[in-house]
Amino acid sequence: MEPSVTGRCLCGGVRFELSEPATRAGYCHCTRCQRRSGTASSAQARIDGRTLRIVRGEHLIKTWRHPDGGFEKRFCGECGAHLFSRDPDDHTAVTVRMSAFDGDPGVRPTWRAFVLYAASWEAIPDDGLERFDEGVPA
Ligand SMILES: [Zn+2]
Ligand SMILES: [Zn+2]
Repeated sequence: MEPSVTGRCLCGGVRFELSEPATRAGYCHCTRCQRRSGTASSAQARIDGRTLRIVRGEHLIKTWRHPDGGFEKRFCGECGAHLFSRDPDDHTAVTVRMSAFDGDPGVRPTWRAFVLYAASWEAIPDDGLERFDEGVPA
């Protein structure tokens, strides 16, 4: 089966495609991801931003930057679905929220980052994935 390289937001106003399948992925347990997603952790694939093309709805994408820094959060301003994050200083460093893919992106999460901040109300699964107290080392 070919990995999915296309995706969209909840309302379908934004559609995107990758020129290459994603090859790395992990879960983020940071408090920002908890607040923006409404979940205990966020599965995201890391990609080279140059492989990402917004097929439609670019004008719907809102980019929000936390005043304290970190990656920009990019989401559909119409339906609120989170799609990407991006290093504001390096647009080649991009993540795709895995739930945004149309089908199975092929890649599987292999790490859990920011576990120091994991939600108290949901135990981190004992799945053997590599764990990092803070972000994934470069
Ligand atoms: Zn939308
Ligand atoms: Zn996060």
